[in-house]
Parts: sequence; structure tokens; C-alpha cells
Amino acid sequence: MKYTELSAEQLLAEKEKLQAEYDGYAAMGLKLDMSRGKPDTAQLDISREILGIVATPEDCISEDGFDCRNYGILDGLPEAKRLFADMLELPEENIIVLGNSSLNVMYDTVARAMLYGVVGSERPWCREDKVKFLCPAPGYDRHFAICESLGIEMITVPMTPEGPDMDVVEALAGADPLIKGIWCVPKYSNPEGITYSDDTVRRLAALKCAAPDFRIFWDNAYVIHDLYEEGDKLLNIVDEAQAAGNGDIVYVFASTSKVTFPGSGVAVMAASMRNLEGIRKIMAAQTIGCDKINMLRHVKYFRDIEGVRAHMKRHADLIRPKFEVVLDAFRSELSDLGIAE
Ligand code: PLP
Repeated sequence: MKYTELSAEQLLAEKEKLQAEYDGYAAMGLKLDMSRGKPDTAQLDISREILGIVATPEDCISEDGFDCRNYGILDGLPEAKRLFADMLELPEENIIVLGNSSLNVMYDTVARAMLYGVVGSERPWCREDKVKFLCPAPGYDRHFAICESLGIEMITVPMTPEGPDMDVVEALAGADPLIKGIWCVPKYSNPEGITYSDDTVRRLAALKCAAPDFRIFWDNAYVIHDLYEEGDKLLNIVDEAQAAGNGDIVYVFASTSKVTFPGSGVAVMAASMRNLEGIRKIMAAQTIGCDKINMLRHVKYFRDIEGVRAHMKRHADLIRPKFEVVLDAFRSELSDLGIAE
């Protein structure tokens, strides 16, 4: 049965049947938290050991002897940088480890660019007549909220099964110097789960922009979040950008929000050394350093990237069956109706 082929009468009968079914569910009075992106209690529980892992003053000493209970270390503990470097497959020198939220880091990064500009800017972005961002859509609503909040005009770019439509991205970014950035969730992109193809990553890395200070905001929030043994493979955009002689174009963001505790994890940013140098200078006015004890908790708990991978398998074991239930229901209930894909 396809809805598009039903008569008005048949559609009405179908509507009544579905309404009765819906009323039945409503009458059950269920209280389901359907928020996207919130792990359930069982997922939070697999990280429970983190809570007690830094318990004594001795536990607070970093590997090079720094007492993490005290002020200092602006851009993250070396052992935390090493862990995230392995996670993002990047050199440690390209990493800074920050606070509890990558969204916060992204907001700060855009706000900093507005106030000071970035490497290669002729002036702070807020001194331009206008600032515009390319926004592949559908995308992550909170990226768009950052633009809205800072008065940045959003230009919609259609998504394809390989990522943003690169013909559109290249044409727009190549023509308009007021287009300063693009938001990307390159792996398992919200909400469709698309991972950018190698060709898309290469074209983004080599992007020729009218703005000399264009940046790709590469929100790799799901970098290690594979549901199956064989996860999607995403090309390393930092390597590709360097190879294309475009090393400053990308800022990478990630966090352990969907690894350990959302809101109490650790966030990270990666970029070229030139980019990071500029960022550190401004950050030094903003903070004396982030929560090193939480960095230590994470490093002590995971030990190394193998520890992270084993942990993510436990998440996958909890989530995979739920995905499959939903997908099976969608397939059996919707796939023949011609109204959804
Ligand atoms: N980026 C994406 C794509 C997300 O989906 C989310 C949360 O759902 C975040 C960032 C927020 O991450 P954080 O908790 O590190 O701020």
C-alpha cells in the first residue's frame, strides 16, 4: 500500500485506524525521555569507575610531576593530549585539551574570531560588513544557534549521501569573501548518520576561498562512536589540508561527552600549530587552565586508545539493539508507504 495511491476515502479510514492506535499509546501515560544525544543510565554506569579514580592527593600528580590540584597548564596535560592525539589520529603538538564541552569550545572559537579574527584575517570578523557561514542542512541545531546568537548569516547547503554538496560549497566559498566558515559533522552526521566520502574531505581540505581567513569547523563528535565492528572510515582532514598547502583551514573539535559523562567529560580542539599559537595567546587572557583533575580521571581510566576502544564497544553493545529495533520498526511500518526513506 502506498499513501500516494489511496483514494480520499481510504486515506480517511487509514487516518482513523492510526488515530485509534495513537490514542492507545497516549492512554498508556508513558513518560519517555526522547531527547537526542542523551545516554541512558546503563550507559552512564559503564563509566562509574571514573568517579573514584582520582581519590587522593597522590592521584593528582601528573606524569611529569605536576600537582593538578593547583593552577597552571593552559592547554591540557601532556598525557591527555597523547590520548586525544591517538583518538583523532593527529600529532600531540596539534592538540589542546580544554573544558567540559566541545560546543563551548566551538562557541568560544567563533566568538574569538568575531572579536580578534583568526590567522590570516585582515580585521576581526565583527568589523566586516557581514559574516556568513555555510550550513549543510539538515545539521546540528546548536551550531546554527551559535550563528544566530552572534548575528552570523547562515547559508544553507544541501546534504548528499557523501556529505555537503561540494559543487555548491566551492561555488559559494570561492565567490564571497564574507563567507568565513562552514559547519561540518563529518562522521555519522546528525541526523542522517552520513559520513563524508574521501572525495568530499579532499575537496574541503583543498577549498579555494575568497576569504583569506575561511575556516572549516570540523565537529568530529562521533569520531570513535561505531556501532559495528567495522565503523565508517573518515579521511583525516588535517593531513589532507596540509598536503593541499591549506593547513590553517581546519579546526577540529571532539569530546568525551558521549564516551563518559555528557557535561562532565573532556573537550579537545586540534588545528595547525600557527592556529593554536594564536588561540593560546587569547586563551591566556580567558583562563589560567581547565579542569586538569578531570583530564587525569579520563587518562587514568582509559590508560590508552585501546582502553577507549574497548569502552566504546560496551556502549555499542547497549545501543546497537535499540537502533535495530527502531530501524526494523521503521522498515516494516514505513518503507512501503512512499512517504519516508
Ligand atoms: N557536536 C555534536 C554534533 C553533537 O551532537 C553534540 C551533542 O549532542 C555536541 C557537539 C555537544 O558536545 P559537548 O557535550 O562536548 O558540548
